[in-house]
Amino acid sequence: MECHTEYDVIVAGTGVGGLFTALNLPEKMKVLVISKRELDLCNSALAQGGVAAVYKPVDDDSTSLHTNDTLIAGGFRNNPDSVKVLVTEAADVIEDILSLGVDFDRDEKGELDRTLEGGHSRRRIFHHRDSTGAEVTAKIREAVLGRENITVIDNALLCRLRKINGGFGADILKNGVHTAYTAKYVVLATGGIGRVYDHTTNSAICTGDGIAMAYELGAEIANLSLIQFHPTAYRDKESRECFLISESVRGEGAYLLNCNKERFMDRYDERLELAPRDVVSRSIILESRRTNSDEFYLDIRYKGKEYLSARFPMIYEFLMTKGIDMSQDLIPIYPCQHYLMGGINTDTDGATDIPGLYAVGECSHTGVHGNNRLASNSLLEALVFGKRAAKDIGRKAEENTTVPEICEFPLAADAEPIPKGIRTEIRHIMQCSYFVIPDIDKAVEGFERVTQIKKMLENGNFIIDRDYVEARSLATVAYLVLKEVI
Ligand SMILES: Cc1cc2nc3c(=O)[nH]c(=O)nc-3n(C[C@H](O)[C@H](O)[C@H](O)COP(=O)(O)OP(=O)(O)OC[C@H]3O[C@@H](n4cnc5c(N)ncnc54)[C@H](O)[C@@H]3O)c2cc1C
Repeated sequence: MECHTEYDVIVAGTGVGGLFTALNLPEKMKVLVISKRELDLCNSALAQGGVAAVYKPVDDDSTSLHTNDTLIAGGFRNNPDSVKVLVTEAADVIEDILSLGVDFDRDEKGELDRTLEGGHSRRRIFHHRDSTGAEVTAKIREAVLGRENITVIDNALLCRLRKINGGFGADILKNGVHTAYTAKYVVLATGGIGRVYDHTTNSAICTGDGIAMAYELGAEIANLSLIQFHPTAYRDKESRECFLISESVRGEGAYLLNCNKERFMDRYDERLELAPRDVVSRSIILESRRTNSDEFYLDIRYKGKEYLSARFPMIYEFLMTKGIDMSQDLIPIYPCQHYLMGGINTDTDGATDIPGLYAVGECSHTGVHGNNRLASNSLLEALVFGKRAAKDIGRKAEENTTVPEICEFPLAADAEPIPKGIRTEIRHIMQCSYFVIPDIDKAVEGFERVTQIKKMLENGNFIIDRDYVEARSLATVAYLVLKEVI
């Protein structure tokens, strides 16, 4: 195995979190950025609704109101220091990404348009039609690819991470070849855990690799059972990756209907369709128990074709491929795994409790979201804390003269592939034992089984490839989630 020692920082992840961190690192630092699949295959590129921020505020909006909304959605279990950082530094990062050319929608006067989403008391969501994430990610990626100090490698899987003298050793697999890299600092920006469920809105890369690796290194992992189930994914029982019908569809006035085509949210919360996500998802599950049906719909027909096809072109087109014209038909929806509030615990600079190890974006736990993330606060979190992590690394590197030692990762010659069906089994356990409202009996049973699987993967002699790395991550994540649930 070859060993490369030339990097100051390794950033794992090319979503908004990883890319914005890399872009904000001092240009004198040599940076390696990797992505385990294509550069744009990530949750960031799927984000529809937008980025929440109080930037050049209108309608008497203020950072105090944004703070309040974030705390209310999070059930006041948020970390107030992190929330303060999030809302007060939001305007700066919006300015930054506008200067990178991010094309947020504007009104007829050319002013930035702001939309409303559940849990927000003011219109403060900046958006690019209904494909904001793809736009923001593409513009930051373009800037990163233009930087001479940054090397970007796609289809490069971080398989193993080790603490060594002077930094970290990373085993990275590309085209079937393992290479050991070393760096003084590592930033984990590996995204969420959606693929630990049968059904999720998340991209295929979301297997919690960074969280599992940080846990194995001994980093503190916090609140991993705080999982957000989005109330309105397109209802398709056959599909693992479920298409999201953005929160902003309710923000723009859609009604939620039960199997009798009746509005029902007034039975559960006075904020009706604009209650935060956890409340709406729980209401749907309770209503499905009451009506004995899992048929639910969004109804925004009254807004008309011209408005809907212009405001939600991606959603409109997706639904048309399913034979649904949202200006004439109801949209079938159901809750679905969507987001992880917990993760690798960090301070307000993205630093974990392992010196030199940082976590940003969805894999991190900055504490901003509390029990439940407020819509569109996630891209914002990745931007604000990614930038802060980069600045912190820059500051620390000024005084850091250590050189990481050479590092090797052994590969056994007689290793075997992992047994088939492990990932499916883990997903099924999670879907049955913890979906919106936990089933404690099933969670206890599930915990025993995932503990067995985790041990088997840790102790067996398996080929270290994507199957193995992802199965081990899923087992570790399921273990950590269920341990908290039971
Ligand atoms: C459908 C959908 C809609 C959303 N809409 C919004 C929205 O409107 N507003 C909002 O604020 N949030 C939204 N979110 C949430 C938000 O998109 C994500 O939380 C955020 O983009 C996460 O960014 P990230 O950089 O942490 O991770 P990601 O963007 O998921 O990137 C993770 C990266 O890590 C890499 N990676 C993972 N494991 C490894 C490994 N072992 N080795 C190498 N690389 C690895 C992946 O290849 C990928 O490049 C949405 C999410 C989804 C799924």
